[in-house]
Amino acid sequence: MPQYKAIYYNRLQGAVVPDQKAFGLTFVRAPSNLISDMASPFVLKKHLTEYGHRLYQRGFLAGADGNISVRLDDDRVMVTPSGIAKGFMTPDDAVIVDFAGKVRQGSHQASSELLMHLFVYQAREDVFACVHSHAPFATSFAVAGIALPEDVLPEVVLTVGKIPLTDYAPPGTDAVPKSLEPHIESANAFLLRNHGLLTLGRNLEEAYNRHETVEHLARIVYQARHLGNIDAIPSDDFQRLERMRSRLDEFWDKKK
Ligand SMILES: [Zn+2]
Repeated sequence: MPQYKAIYYNRLQGAVVPDQKAFGLTFVRAPSNLISDMASPFVLKKHLTEYGHRLYQRGFLAGADGNISVRLDDDRVMVTPSGIAKGFMTPDDAVIVDFAGKVRQGSHQASSELLMHLFVYQAREDVFACVHSHAPFATSFAVAGIALPEDVLPEVVLTVGKIPLTDYAPPGTDAVPKSLEPHIESANAFLLRNHGLLTLGRNLEEAYNRHETVEHLARIVYQARHLGNIDAIPSDDFQRLERMRSRLDEFWDKKK
């Protein structure tokens, strides 16, 4: 795995289809502004900070809640600090740890949910970023013990997929990775029971976008339940969207 591997691209505009010139594949429509680079820890610290601020501005965090991480290479992970409000953190607050959890760089303690982040990177070599918050609508479903449907909004099928509701695990303990274990291979978003939301991505932007998408879904499902009806996407279109998502996954797998 190359060092500092981080592939940045903006929000996908519809179906991604191979671009033979660029990737030796064939796309119907490629993201218009796909940028691939090897971001340095210096740049990633800034991105980590920016996404912390965005989580706070969106109302997904209270106090020092929430944590974000990026895998730097086979040995190191950059993570937000413990006990510091992510809405006001600076790049210097970021902490770099190894996979034993030892701080390699930084003047703060790493996030109290470090075990959860390290577990994800060890279980999923395709994941390079994790975002965790207590986003209020998603967390409401996690507290109510009600799973979110995956078949009611096309963008959720296309960009997120399944959203399992995990068993309860006390935050910050090794029970959190254990609660993810049954689902880790098959999902990129998890409702942590009585706790919050965790999303994964092949880069920070994807993990963050999935976070917003799931919170948006939770809000819409909450409102639709109050209106009294939820219709699923017709099954043939649901399957078409799932095929599109797996084609996108295959594209990324080949690109690795
Ligand atoms: Zn939490």
